[in-house]
Amino acid sequence: MASLTSVPISTLEFERFSTVLPPDTYGAFLEAVARSRQVLDGRRIWNVNSTARGGGVAEMLISLLAYARGAGVDARWEVVAGNPEFFALTKRIHNCLHGAPGDGGDLGETERRTYEDALAPNADELAERVDPSDVVILHDPQTAGLIPRLKPTGVPIIWRCHVGLDMPNDLSRKAWRFLIPYVEQADLHIFSRRVFAWEGLDETARAIVAPSIDAFSPKNQELSDDAVSAILAAAGLSQNGDGAEPTFLRESGERERVRRRAEVFEEEPLRGDEPIVVQVSRWDRLKDPLGVIDGFAQHIAPRSDAHLVYAGPAVAAVSDDPEGKEVLAEARGRWTELPDDVRGRVHLAALPMDDPEENAAIVNALQRRAAVVVQKSIAEGFGLTVAEAMWKGRPVVASRIGGIQD
Ligand code: UDP
Repeated sequence: MASLTSVPISTLEFERFSTVLPPDTYGAFLEAVARSRQVLDGRRIWNVNSTARGGGVAEMLISLLAYARGAGVDARWEVVAGNPEFFALTKRIHNCLHGAPGDGGDLGETERRTYEDALAPNADELAERVDPSDVVILHDPQTAGLIPRLKPTGVPIIWRCHVGLDMPNDLSRKAWRFLIPYVEQADLHIFSRRVFAWEGLDETARAIVAPSIDAFSPKNQELSDDAVSAILAAAGLSQNGDGAEPTFLRESGERERVRRRAEVFEEEPLRGDEPIVVQVSRWDRLKDPLGVIDGFAQHIAPRSDAHLVYAGPAVAAVSDDPEGKEVLAEARGRWTELPDDVRGRVHLAALPMDDPEENAAIVNALQRRAAVVVQKSIAEGFGLTVAEAMWKGRPVVASRIGGIQD
């Protein structure tokens, strides 16, 4: 049975950061690159997570690993395979780590068997491929169960956790209890914020690393106003494209057109000149799509002529997120119930995911076009979307929780 899938990584020149970093910071960055080259020479750096697209971890790895390769580091990326029971369970763990019940199910011995059985073929394959001089970086709860099988190979193991809660509760502790037998065997734990670190893990084997965005990726690169309008029109998100080309720059440097259209639930497409409030998030209850719709309907719609665009990925596309379809259906249900005058101003968009760079260009255009970007999460490890909006100079209104505060 196929287990791991290798994700192709491009090579990017880190030197481009000289144009956006102050000289001192760029100098420190160059020193770090030189030291990394030395320390990591001859080692392969295996990154393992559970999806190659959709969500913040994939978003970060695409860029980080490409710059690592550009700096001469042999970075690799593998995605674990799992069955639907495994992903339902890891979503439950993810929700619990955020302090939310998710589907309310148990995390007991039966679940442990489901978890370990699904990861076993992945772990065997990875253990055969790694060398003790390599480094393995495992991301998030979906991969923690690989640790015990990797341990005897002698490879250094780093476990990086991208989710967390400001104040632990019974649910997060339940998830910790489930995962600690694996996680405690890692050589280093990385958390996004200090308060996210778990009780019961060795404090001397801990690092705090904030997530990051890539200023040059198709998600964040500069776009002219005309390109923004053209991309939104090409993606079916507004009517008027101003005649410009709906193009963006691929990571490879090639210029590409946005061709695929979003599936939009709306009464009429945007004209293109209305002020829009935008939230870009996976269809996940912790991103509170219903709260965004209600908040807009009750507080913004009566006081302005703004429209709301809630954009998330096409739901079939994010393989490790089984709740997506349900949550999109709930959002559509709430949209249907809106009073007539508000419904016409709320647009729910499922963005095409076939080409991640095209998807990123559409998100980029939406964020740049936004009068206000919102992120009304109920829990948030970091919230790349907030950093993305800030990079674009957009005003952000967001929940005062988790990494959003940073
Ligand atoms: N994202 C995207 N297309 C979508 C929805 C989300 O590219 O349709 C991106 C978004 O721009 C951000 C990432 O997915 O880069 C989400 O990261 P965040 O930290 O905000 O939340 P997570 O999904 O990791 O909980």
